Amino acid sequence: MSPEDLNPGDVGPGSEVAVLVRGLTKSYGNVHAVRGIDLTIARGEVFALLGPNGAGKTTTVEILEGYRHRDGGQVEVLGFDPGRQRSRLKQQTGIVLQSTGVDSYLTVSETVAMYAGYYPHPRPVEEVLELVGLTEKRSSRVSRLSGGQQRRLDVAVALAGDPELLFLDEPTTGFDPSARREAWQVVENLAALGKTVLLTTHYMDEAEHLANRVAVIAGGRIVAEGTPATLAGRDTARVVVSYRLPDGVSAPPEFGGPTGPEGRIEFMPDDLTAALHRLTGWALDHGVSLDALRISRPSLEDVYLQLTDSASGAQPAEASSKSKGKRR
Ligand code: ATP
Repeated sequence: MSPEDLNPGDVGPGSEVAVLVRGLTKSYGNVHAVRGIDLTIARGEVFALLGPNGAGKTTTVEILEGYRHRDGGQVEVLGFDPGRQRSRLKQQTGIVLQSTGVDSYLTVSETVAMYAGYYPHPRPVEEVLELVGLTEKRSSRVSRLSGGQQRRLDVAVALAGDPELLFLDEPTTGFDPSARREAWQVVENLAALGKTVLLTTHYMDEAEHLANRVAVIAGGRIVAEGTPATLAGRDTARVVVSYRLPDGVSAPPEFGGPTGPEGRIEFMPDDLTAALHRLTGWALDHGVSLDALRISRPSLEDVYLQLTDSASGAQPAEASSKSKGKRR
């Protein structure tokens, strides 16, 4: 079943819908942080919320988690209203914040076991450590872990109760490239177990790699939603042909002008095949090398920047300034 086929009647324990949001609003004084958001997330989906600083992502997620009260709208998470049934919801959700405070004198497995003890049906500690890639570190003290390993321990703690739904707030911010790849593997492991994951991220490659669907929030509203590959018509957008020419050589006007970065020449043909045929034919006839010839559609980052730039007039006046990661 695709998320488009889901409707409010499908919500409830054991249903196909993990998260259903309709007309969600939230203001802080005169800052309208969330201005009528609709979201449907199916069970087993990895869903990413994208958006600039202050867009309303954290406010939305905190309402879904039950940590913040909404002003208006309908919200159901795993069949519960987080505003009124937070403790029941908590048993089935795991939350990974940007920074968490676990006791640095405990070992890795003691930490996970301690959190597992709070839940009625925890996942075995060894399984959790395996999922997050910390089996080798099970006897290490938390204080001895690297930053990336501590982050994986945060995920392990959130997994201790074997939740159905995981909230991951910017899970790889500050990671080096290999630690990011390892964190992505952890999310993939969760997806393979059929868990639902709602993540916020500022990294487009992360959303592209991990998410089944993404929503872009700007100024408290969802400005686009879809799969990373098709967001805002990415898949059907006109292609850009670009190349470089040797110094002193110029191409006929139909093959573009030097408008791109690094002296790249760009044009957007109506008929790609015919245009390439003519361009390469012209190059061969004139003995010209089309250095670094490239054919591209807009990247996820391109469409994200377009969407958020055009929505920026609607953003709340203040930038996000609160400190994060303090709750558990
Ligand atoms: P970031 O990417 O920086 O984490 P965000 O998309 O998560 O941003 P929110 O944290 O939801 O955005 O903030 C949305 C708006 O609400 C911002 O203008 C922010 O300043 C404001 N805001 C958030 N929390 C509070 C609060 N506790 N009190 C007052 N204003 C707040």
